[in-house]
Amino acid sequence: MGSIVLKKVSKVFGEAKVIPSIDLEINNGEFVVFVGPSGCGKSTLLRLIAGLEDVSSGQIMIDGKDGTNLAPAQRGLAMVFQSYALYPHMSVRKNIAFPLKMANMPQAEIDKKVADAARVLNLTDYLERKPRQLSGGQRQRVAIGRAIVRQPAAFLFDEPLSNLDAALRVNMRLEISELHQQLKTTMIYVTHDQVEAMTMADKIVVLNRGNIEQVGSPLELYRSPQNLFVAGFIGSPK
Ligand code: ADP
Ligand code: MG
Repeated sequence: MGSIVLKKVSKVFGEAKVIPSIDLEINNGEFVVFVGPSGCGKSTLLRLIAGLEDVSSGQIMIDGKDGTNLAPAQRGLAMVFQSYALYPHMSVRKNIAFPLKMANMPQAEIDKKVADAARVLNLTDYLERKPRQLSGGQRQRVAIGRAIVRQPAAFLFDEPLSNLDAALRVNMRLEISELHQQLKTTMIYVTHDQVEAMTMADKIVVLNRGNIEQVGSPLELYRSPQNLFVAGFIGSPK
């Protein structure tokens, strides 16, 4: 569970070849960060994996099976949106339970899954509150909770912390890393922030104009950047 392989994946919007051709292997349980400047195609690549956009060509293998033409809900992946994507009129409990309700899961099972997710995310005491009665960090955790209850093969995060203040961002970064250690589920995390990439990733994918410049561990990228772009972006001394 949780491996994702891209084979010659491309994406064209009208005349614009946003992703010319990408090959990438993500192993089960890895924390992979897509990093690169604004507009380089990070969100597009994540949305292709999630199935929110169709590939123009190429293949996306999920757990060894061809997932290229599967609907988003059938891919077994959970996209974590920014905390403002919560339903403001619903309690934390109902926000987290929402995807399970939609799937017609029996209420007793829903209650158990919500309780389990709340425990992992330290939200047990906040289940009856509305999102506006929570801090930014707690809201972000509710958004993650809504993904956790579906027990996905992988979590996909698109700059989930970008609307939090700097101190909270550092805090949430640690929380997401801890969550990864607890769940050991594949996570793909998109950011334009080099520090986030260097501190969170098992594997960093450096993107530039829709192409992969380099894939490697934070240490590999720091010690042996393959080109000036990677060196400049990672802040390597070379
Ligand atoms: P990033 O997330 O790295 O900032 P994006 O993946 O959002 O970059 O965008 C990459 C490029 O694709 C940008 O030039 C953007 O304008 C373009 N793009 C993204 N989505 C669309 C779309 N739906 N239609 C046309 N162009 C798009
Ligand atoms: Mg983006």
